[in-house]
Amino acid sequence: MALKTLETRFEHLSVNENEPLGNSGSYNKSKGSLSAAGPICGLGSTVLQPANINRNNLLKLALQNINDSKANSNQAGASPRKGQVVVASVSGSRSSEENTQQSSIPLYEQPQSLKKLQLGMFEIGKPLGKGKFGRVYLAKERSSGFICALKVLHKSELQQGGVQKQVRREIEIQSNLRHPNVLRLYGHFHDSKRIFLILEFAGKGELYKHLRKENRFPEWKAAQYVAQMAAALKYLHKKHVIHRDIKPENILVGIHGEIKISDFGWSVHAPNNRRKTMCGTLDYLPPEMLKPGSQDNSYNEKVDLWSLGVLTYEFLVGEAPFEDTPVMTQRRIARGDMSIPSFVSPEAKDLIKRLLVLDPEKRMPLDEVQQHPWVIKHCASGERAAQRSSGGKAGKV
Ligand code: ATP
Ligand code: MG
Repeated sequence: MALKTLETRFEHLSVNENEPLGNSGSYNKSKGSLSAAGPICGLGSTVLQPANINRNNLLKLALQNINDSKANSNQAGASPRKGQVVVASVSGSRSSEENTQQSSIPLYEQPQSLKKLQLGMFEIGKPLGKGKFGRVYLAKERSSGFICALKVLHKSELQQGGVQKQVRREIEIQSNLRHPNVLRLYGHFHDSKRIFLILEFAGKGELYKHLRKENRFPEWKAAQYVAQMAAALKYLHKKHVIHRDIKPENILVGIHGEIKISDFGWSVHAPNNRRKTMCGTLDYLPPEMLKPGSQDNSYNEKVDLWSLGVLTYEFLVGEAPFEDTPVMTQRRIARGDMSIPSFVSPEAKDLIKRLLVLDPEKRMPLDEVQQHPWVIKHCASGERAAQRSSGGKAGKV
Protein backbone atom coordinates (compact mmCIF):
# COMPACT_ATOMS: atom_id res chain seq x y z
CA MET A 1 0.00 0.00 0.00
CA ALA A 2 1.15 3.50 -0.52
CA LEU A 3 2.26 4.40 2.95
CA LYS A 4 2.56 8.00 2.09
CA THR A 5 -1.02 8.11 1.03
CA LEU A 6 -2.08 6.61 4.31
CA GLU A 7 -0.05 9.05 6.31
CA THR A 8 -1.01 12.01 4.21
CA ARG A 9 -4.57 10.98 4.57
CA PHE A 10 -4.25 10.73 8.29
CA GLU A 11 -3.04 14.28 8.55
CA HIS A 12 -6.41 15.47 7.37
CA LEU A 13 -8.37 13.25 9.64
CA SER A 14 -9.89 14.32 12.85
CA VAL A 15 -11.37 12.48 15.73
CA ASN A 16 -13.76 13.93 18.20
CA GLU A 17 -12.94 11.67 21.04
CA ASN A 18 -14.85 13.51 23.67
CA GLU A 19 -18.07 12.63 21.97
CA PRO A 20 -19.16 9.11 22.74
CA LEU A 21 -20.87 7.46 19.83
CA GLY A 22 -23.97 6.92 21.88
CA ASN A 23 -24.58 10.64 22.02
CA SER A 24 -25.80 12.85 19.33
CA GLY A 25 -23.08 15.21 18.42
CA SER A 26 -21.72 17.26 15.64
CA TYR A 27 -18.87 15.24 14.28
CA ASN A 28 -16.40 16.43 11.78
CA LYS A 29 -17.60 15.22 8.47
CA SER A 30 -14.71 16.31 6.34
CA LYS A 31 -13.59 13.89 3.69
CA GLY A 32 -11.81 10.94 5.19
CA SER A 33 -12.74 11.87 8.70
CA LEU A 34 -12.43 9.17 11.31
CA SER A 35 -15.25 10.76 13.13
CA ALA A 36 -18.69 9.37 13.09
CA ALA A 37 -21.52 11.46 11.83
CA GLY A 38 -24.11 11.94 14.48
CA PRO A 39 -26.51 11.22 15.83
CA ILE A 40 -25.65 7.61 16.29
CA CYS A 41 -26.96 5.57 19.13
CA GLY A 42 -25.80 2.36 20.63
CA LEU A 43 -27.40 -1.02 20.27
CA GLY A 44 -31.01 -1.19 21.22
CA SER A 45 -31.77 2.37 20.28
CA THR A 46 -30.05 2.62 16.97
CA VAL A 47 -31.22 5.67 15.14
CA LEU A 48 -29.14 6.29 12.09
CA GLN A 49 -29.77 9.33 10.01
CA PRO A 50 -29.20 8.12 6.48
CA ALA A 51 -27.82 11.39 5.23
CA ASN A 52 -25.08 11.24 7.78
CA ILE A 53 -24.04 7.69 7.33
CA ASN A 54 -20.88 6.92 5.53
CA ARG A 55 -18.71 3.85 5.54
CA ASN A 56 -16.43 5.19 8.24
CA ASN A 57 -19.36 5.55 10.51
CA LEU A 58 -20.58 2.11 9.81
CA LEU A 59 -17.34 0.48 10.79
CA LYS A 60 -17.01 2.59 13.87
CA LEU A 61 -20.59 1.92 14.77
CA ALA A 62 -20.08 -1.77 14.14
CA LEU A 63 -17.10 -1.92 16.42
CA GLN A 64 -18.83 0.23 18.98
CA ASN A 65 -21.93 -1.90 18.96
CA ILE A 66 -19.95 -5.04 19.39
CA ASN A 67 -18.25 -3.56 22.37
CA ASP A 68 -21.44 -2.13 23.74
CA SER A 69 -23.15 -5.47 23.56
CA LYS A 70 -20.19 -6.94 25.35
CA ALA A 71 -20.28 -4.24 27.98
CA ASN A 72 -23.98 -4.78 28.50
CA SER A 73 -23.60 -8.51 28.75
CA ASN A 74 -21.93 -8.13 32.11
CA GLN A 75 -19.18 -10.56 31.28
CA ALA A 76 -16.29 -8.26 31.10
CA GLY A 77 -13.96 -6.64 33.57
CA ALA A 78 -15.92 -3.44 33.47
CA SER A 79 -18.67 -4.84 35.64
CA PRO A 80 -17.06 -6.46 38.60
CA ARG A 81 -18.94 -7.35 41.75
CA LYS A 82 -19.24 -4.57 44.24
CA GLY A 83 -15.97 -4.00 45.99
CA GLN A 84 -14.08 -6.13 43.54
CA VAL A 85 -11.24 -4.54 41.73
CA VAL A 86 -10.12 -5.43 38.27
CA VAL A 87 -6.42 -5.18 37.89
CA ALA A 88 -5.30 -4.11 34.46
CA SER A 89 -2.03 -5.93 34.43
CA VAL A 90 -2.98 -9.10 36.14
CA SER A 91 -0.67 -11.94 36.97
CA GLY A 92 -3.37 -14.54 36.97
CA SER A 93 -7.05 -15.09 37.10
CA ARG A 94 -8.66 -14.11 40.35
CA SER A 95 -12.28 -14.30 39.48
CA SER A 96 -14.91 -16.51 38.06
CA GLU A 97 -15.78 -13.83 35.53
CA GLU A 98 -13.25 -15.28 33.22
CA ASN A 99 -15.47 -17.41 31.15
CA THR A 100 -13.29 -18.79 28.45
CA GLN A 101 -16.05 -19.49 26.01
CA GLN A 102 -17.82 -16.23 26.37
CA SER A 103 -14.73 -14.09 26.37
CA SER A 104 -13.29 -15.68 23.28
CA ILE A 105 -16.28 -15.20 21.04
CA PRO A 106 -17.69 -11.74 21.45
CA LEU A 107 -16.90 -10.60 17.94
CA TYR A 108 -18.69 -13.53 16.45
CA GLU A 109 -21.97 -12.41 17.91
CA GLN A 110 -22.39 -9.63 15.43
CA PRO A 111 -25.47 -7.98 14.09
CA GLN A 112 -26.33 -9.78 10.84
CA SER A 113 -25.48 -6.82 8.69
CA LEU A 114 -21.93 -6.68 9.93
CA LYS A 115 -19.14 -8.52 8.28
CA LYS A 116 -16.95 -10.73 10.37
CA LEU A 117 -13.68 -8.97 11.07
CA GLN A 118 -10.73 -10.50 9.31
CA LEU A 119 -7.27 -9.54 8.16
CA GLY A 120 -8.30 -9.14 4.52
CA MET A 121 -10.42 -6.16 5.53
CA PHE A 122 -7.29 -4.18 6.35
CA GLU A 123 -4.56 -2.67 4.29
CA ILE A 124 -1.41 -2.95 6.33
CA GLY A 125 0.90 0.06 6.46
CA LYS A 126 4.17 0.83 8.11
CA PRO A 127 5.26 -0.91 11.29
CA LEU A 128 4.67 1.34 14.30
CA GLY A 129 6.65 -0.67 16.77
CA LYS A 130 7.40 -3.98 18.35
CA GLY A 131 6.58 -5.14 21.84
CA LYS A 132 7.36 -8.22 23.88
CA PHE A 133 4.65 -10.27 22.23
CA GLY A 134 3.65 -8.47 19.13
CA ARG A 135 4.16 -6.07 16.34
CA VAL A 136 2.00 -3.07 15.68
CA TYR A 137 1.21 -1.74 12.21
CA LEU A 138 -0.58 1.25 10.87
CA ALA A 139 -3.64 -0.08 9.10
CA LYS A 140 -6.62 1.05 7.14
CA GLU A 141 -9.93 -0.72 6.97
CA ARG A 142 -10.42 -1.04 3.24
CA SER A 143 -14.06 -0.27 2.78
CA SER A 144 -14.28 2.64 5.18
CA GLY A 145 -10.78 4.09 5.11
CA PHE A 146 -10.82 3.88 8.90
CA ILE A 147 -7.27 4.33 10.17
CA CYS A 148 -6.17 2.30 13.14
CA ALA A 149 -3.22 0.48 14.64
CA LEU A 150 -3.29 -3.26 14.20
CA LYS A 151 -1.46 -5.22 16.85
CA VAL A 152 -0.51 -8.73 15.90
CA LEU A 153 0.11 -11.27 18.63
CA HIS A 154 1.33 -14.75 17.80
CA LYS A 155 -0.62 -17.42 19.62
CA SER A 156 2.44 -19.65 19.87
CA GLU A 157 4.40 -16.91 21.60
CA LEU A 158 1.54 -16.15 23.97
CA GLN A 159 1.34 -19.83 24.74
CA GLN A 160 5.06 -20.07 25.34
CA GLY A 161 4.87 -17.11 27.64
CA GLY A 162 1.89 -18.68 29.40
CA VAL A 163 -0.09 -15.50 28.99
CA GLN A 164 -3.07 -16.49 26.84
CA LYS A 165 -5.65 -16.14 29.57
CA GLN A 166 -4.26 -12.84 30.64
CA VAL A 167 -4.33 -11.51 27.12
CA ARG A 168 -7.96 -12.52 26.81
CA ARG A 169 -8.78 -10.80 30.02
CA GLU A 170 -6.91 -7.67 29.05
CA ILE A 171 -8.84 -7.57 25.78
CA GLU A 172 -12.05 -7.72 27.77
CA ILE A 173 -10.98 -4.93 30.05
CA GLN A 174 -9.64 -2.60 27.41
CA SER A 175 -12.51 -3.02 24.98
CA ASN A 176 -14.86 -1.73 27.63
CA LEU A 177 -12.94 1.45 28.25
CA ARG A 178 -13.97 4.64 26.55
CA HIS A 179 -12.15 7.78 27.54
CA PRO A 180 -10.29 10.38 25.47
CA ASN A 181 -7.12 9.69 27.43
CA VAL A 182 -7.34 5.90 27.30
CA LEU A 183 -6.32 4.15 24.10
CA ARG A 184 -9.36 2.53 22.53
CA LEU A 185 -9.46 -1.09 21.61
CA TYR A 186 -12.14 -1.21 18.93
CA GLY A 187 -12.21 -4.93 18.44
CA HIS A 188 -10.25 -8.08 17.85
CA PHE A 189 -10.22 -11.16 15.69
CA HIS A 190 -7.96 -14.10 15.15
CA ASP A 191 -6.83 -16.68 12.67
CA SER A 192 -5.23 -20.01 13.39
CA LYS A 193 -1.87 -18.49 14.35
CA ARG A 194 -2.44 -14.92 15.39
CA ILE A 195 -4.63 -12.60 17.40
CA PHE A 196 -5.26 -9.15 15.94
CA LEU A 197 -6.18 -6.16 18.02
CA ILE A 198 -7.75 -3.16 16.33
CA LEU A 199 -6.43 -0.24 18.33
CA GLU A 200 -6.91 3.46 18.13
CA PHE A 201 -3.97 4.95 16.25
CA ALA A 202 -1.95 7.32 18.41
CA GLY A 203 -0.55 9.61 15.73
CA LYS A 204 2.26 11.12 17.75
CA GLY A 205 3.70 7.92 19.12
CA GLU A 206 5.23 7.28 22.50
CA LEU A 207 5.30 9.92 25.20
CA TYR A 208 8.57 8.41 26.33
CA LYS A 209 10.23 9.47 23.08
CA HIS A 210 8.91 13.00 23.40
CA LEU A 211 10.24 13.22 26.92
CA ARG A 212 13.68 11.93 25.94
CA LYS A 213 13.79 14.37 23.06
CA GLU A 214 12.78 17.36 25.16
CA ASN A 215 14.78 16.14 28.15
CA ARG A 216 12.09 17.50 30.45
CA PHE A 217 8.74 19.10 29.85
CA PRO A 218 7.95 22.72 30.64
CA GLU A 219 5.64 23.03 33.61
CA TRP A 220 2.56 23.95 31.57
CA LYS A 221 2.93 20.84 29.47
CA ALA A 222 3.65 18.58 32.44
CA ALA A 223 0.61 19.99 34.24
CA GLN A 224 -1.63 19.40 31.25
CA TYR A 225 -0.40 15.83 30.95
CA VAL A 226 -0.89 15.28 34.67
CA ALA A 227 -4.44 16.63 34.41
CA GLN A 228 -5.17 14.22 31.57
CA MET A 229 -3.64 11.35 33.50
CA ALA A 230 -5.73 12.21 36.55
CA ALA A 231 -8.89 12.24 34.40
CA ALA A 232 -8.01 8.90 32.83
CA LEU A 233 -7.12 7.27 36.15
CA LYS A 234 -10.28 8.57 37.75
CA TYR A 235 -12.23 6.95 34.96
CA LEU A 236 -10.33 3.68 35.29
CA HIS A 237 -10.69 3.56 39.05
CA LYS A 238 -14.39 4.25 38.75
CA LYS A 239 -14.50 1.18 36.55
CA HIS A 240 -12.52 -0.73 39.16
CA VAL A 241 -9.52 -0.98 36.92
CA ILE A 242 -6.07 -0.42 38.37
CA HIS A 243 -3.48 0.17 35.73
CA ARG A 244 -0.43 -0.68 37.87
CA ASP A 245 2.01 0.04 35.13
CA ILE A 246 1.87 3.79 34.65
CA LYS A 247 5.09 5.09 33.11
CA PRO A 248 6.00 7.17 30.04
CA GLU A 249 6.62 4.03 27.97
CA ASN A 250 2.98 3.06 28.38
CA ILE A 251 1.56 6.38 27.35
CA LEU A 252 0.93 7.25 23.73
CA VAL A 253 0.23 10.64 22.23
CA GLY A 254 -2.71 11.37 19.96
CA ILE A 255 -2.63 13.52 16.88
CA HIS A 256 -3.76 16.57 18.84
CA GLY A 257 -1.07 16.07 21.47
CA GLU A 258 -3.46 14.47 23.96
CA ILE A 259 -2.17 11.54 25.95
CA LYS A 260 -3.56 8.03 25.80
CA ILE A 261 -2.89 5.46 28.46
CA SER A 262 -2.16 2.15 26.82
CA ASP A 263 -0.77 -1.21 27.76
CA PHE A 264 -3.43 -2.79 29.86
CA GLY A 265 -1.39 -5.77 30.73
CA TRP A 266 0.64 -6.21 27.66
CA SER A 267 3.58 -5.93 29.92
CA VAL A 268 2.27 -9.22 31.13
CA HIS A 269 4.48 -9.69 34.12
CA ALA A 270 2.71 -8.57 37.21
CA PRO A 271 4.94 -6.19 39.12
CA ASN A 272 5.82 -8.83 41.69
CA ASN A 273 7.06 -11.24 39.08
CA ARG A 274 8.65 -8.45 37.21
CA ARG A 275 10.68 -7.59 40.25
CA LYS A 276 11.81 -11.15 40.63
CA THR A 277 12.80 -11.47 37.01
CA MET A 278 14.37 -8.03 37.04
CA CYS A 279 12.97 -7.04 33.73
CA GLY A 280 11.23 -3.75 33.35
CA THR A 281 11.87 -0.72 35.47
CA LEU A 282 11.51 -0.59 39.23
CA ASP A 283 11.30 3.15 39.19
CA TYR A 284 7.52 3.30 39.24
CA LEU A 285 6.82 0.59 41.80
CA PRO A 286 5.02 1.89 44.87
CA PRO A 287 6.36 0.98 48.31
CA GLU A 288 3.42 -1.30 49.17
CA MET A 289 4.27 -3.47 46.20
CA LEU A 290 7.87 -3.78 47.34
CA LYS A 291 6.94 -5.28 50.67
CA PRO A 292 8.14 -8.85 51.00
CA GLY A 293 5.28 -11.23 50.36
CA SER A 294 3.04 -8.57 48.86
CA GLN A 295 0.27 -10.26 46.96
CA ASP A 296 -1.99 -9.07 44.22
CA ASN A 297 -4.65 -8.27 46.76
CA SER A 298 -2.50 -6.48 49.28
CA TYR A 299 -2.73 -3.15 47.51
CA ASN A 300 -5.40 -1.08 45.89
CA GLU A 301 -5.92 1.57 43.24
CA LYS A 302 -3.78 3.97 45.26
CA VAL A 303 -0.73 2.36 43.63
CA ASP A 304 -1.59 4.42 40.55
CA LEU A 305 -1.43 7.62 42.63
CA TRP A 306 2.14 6.85 43.60
CA SER A 307 3.01 6.18 39.97
CA LEU A 308 1.37 9.46 39.01
CA GLY A 309 3.71 11.17 41.47
CA VAL A 310 6.72 9.43 39.91
CA LEU A 311 5.44 10.40 36.47
CA THR A 312 4.96 14.05 37.45
CA TYR A 313 8.50 14.10 38.78
CA GLU A 314 9.91 12.50 35.64
CA PHE A 315 8.01 14.92 33.39
CA LEU A 316 9.52 17.88 35.22
CA VAL A 317 13.00 16.60 36.00
CA GLY A 318 13.66 14.26 33.08
CA GLU A 319 14.42 11.27 35.24
CA ALA A 320 12.52 9.24 37.80
CA PRO A 321 12.91 10.23 41.47
CA PHE A 322 14.30 6.91 42.70
CA GLU A 323 16.52 6.11 39.74
CA ASP A 324 19.50 4.20 41.04
CA THR A 325 20.87 0.67 41.06
CA PRO A 326 18.03 -1.87 41.44
CA VAL A 327 18.85 -2.51 45.08
CA MET A 328 19.13 1.15 45.91
CA THR A 329 16.00 2.02 43.98
CA GLN A 330 14.01 -0.43 46.09
CA ARG A 331 15.55 0.85 49.26
CA ARG A 332 14.90 4.45 48.34
CA ILE A 333 11.30 3.76 47.33
CA ALA A 334 10.68 2.00 50.63
CA ARG A 335 11.86 5.12 52.46
CA GLY A 336 10.39 7.62 50.05
CA ASP A 337 13.91 8.94 49.71
CA MET A 338 14.00 11.53 46.94
CA SER A 339 14.74 15.17 46.41
CA ILE A 340 13.21 17.58 43.97
CA PRO A 341 15.57 19.93 42.12
CA SER A 342 15.20 23.64 42.79
CA PHE A 343 14.16 24.45 39.22
CA VAL A 344 10.83 22.75 39.90
CA SER A 345 8.20 25.28 41.04
CA PRO A 346 6.99 25.16 44.65
CA GLU A 347 3.46 24.28 43.47
CA ALA A 348 4.66 21.33 41.43
CA LYS A 349 6.85 20.20 44.31
CA ASP A 350 3.84 20.30 46.55
CA LEU A 351 1.86 18.03 44.25
CA ILE A 352 4.71 15.53 43.88
CA LYS A 353 5.15 15.37 47.65
CA ARG A 354 1.46 14.79 48.17
CA LEU A 355 1.45 11.88 45.75
CA LEU A 356 4.72 10.23 46.78
CA VAL A 357 3.44 9.42 50.25
CA LEU A 358 4.40 6.05 51.70
CA ASP A 359 1.00 5.45 53.26
CA PRO A 360 -1.32 4.72 50.30
CA GLU A 361 -4.34 6.06 52.17
CA LYS A 362 -2.69 9.44 52.63
CA ARG A 363 -1.92 10.06 48.97
CA MET A 364 -3.76 12.94 47.38
CA PRO A 365 -6.95 11.63 45.75
CA LEU A 366 -7.45 12.21 42.03
CA ASP A 367 -10.22 14.76 42.58
CA GLU A 368 -7.79 16.86 44.54
CA VAL A 369 -5.06 16.37 41.96
CA GLN A 370 -7.42 17.82 39.38
CA GLN A 371 -8.07 20.77 41.69
CA HIS A 372 -4.47 21.26 42.73
CA PRO A 373 -3.33 24.89 42.28
CA TRP A 374 -0.48 23.84 39.98
CA VAL A 375 -2.84 21.92 37.72
CA ILE A 376 -5.47 24.66 37.78
CA LYS A 377 -2.88 27.31 37.05
CA HIS A 378 -1.74 25.61 33.87
CA CYS A 379 -4.96 24.02 32.74
CA ALA A 380 -7.74 26.44 33.55
CA SER A 381 -7.16 28.15 30.25
CA GLY A 382 -5.19 25.41 28.59
CA GLU A 383 -4.33 27.01 25.32
CA ARG A 384 -3.51 30.38 26.69
CA ALA A 385 -1.24 28.76 29.23
CA ALA A 386 0.52 26.95 26.43
CA GLN A 387 1.00 30.11 24.46
CA ARG A 388 2.27 32.05 27.46
CA SER A 389 4.63 29.31 28.43
CA SER A 390 6.13 28.88 25.03
CA GLY A 391 7.18 32.48 25.54
CA GLY A 392 9.64 31.38 28.19
CA LYS A 393 7.71 30.44 31.28
CA ALA A 394 9.03 26.90 31.39
CA GLY A 395 11.39 26.04 34.17
CA LYS A 396 10.20 28.85 36.42
CA VAL A 397 11.28 28.26 39.99
P1 ATP B 1 5.36 -4.29 25.77
O1 ATP B 1 5.25 -5.55 25.04
O2 ATP B 1 6.31 -4.33 26.87
O3 ATP B 1 4.03 -3.72 26.15
P2 ATP B 1 5.35 -2.17 23.96
O4 ATP B 1 4.35 -1.38 24.71
O5 ATP B 1 6.46 -1.36 23.35
O6 ATP B 1 6.01 -3.28 24.79
P3 ATP B 1 3.36 -2.78 22.04
O7 ATP B 1 2.22 -2.32 22.84
O8 ATP B 1 3.24 -4.05 21.30
O9 ATP B 1 4.61 -3.02 22.86
O10 ATP B 1 3.73 -1.64 21.03
C1 ATP B 1 4.94 -1.60 20.34
C2 ATP B 1 5.19 -0.18 19.91
O11 ATP B 1 4.29 0.13 18.85
C3 ATP B 1 4.92 0.86 20.97
O12 ATP B 1 6.02 1.07 21.76
C4 ATP B 1 4.54 2.07 20.14
O13 ATP B 1 5.69 2.74 19.71
C5 ATP B 1 3.86 1.47 18.95
N1 ATP B 1 2.41 1.44 19.13
C6 ATP B 1 1.69 0.52 19.79
N2 ATP B 1 0.39 0.79 19.75
C7 ATP B 1 0.26 1.92 19.03
C8 ATP B 1 -0.87 2.74 18.64
N3 ATP B 1 -2.09 2.41 19.01
N4 ATP B 1 -0.64 3.84 17.92
C9 ATP B 1 0.63 4.18 17.57
N5 ATP B 1 1.72 3.47 17.91
C10 ATP B 1 1.55 2.35 18.63
MG1 MG C 1 3.27 -1.66 25.46
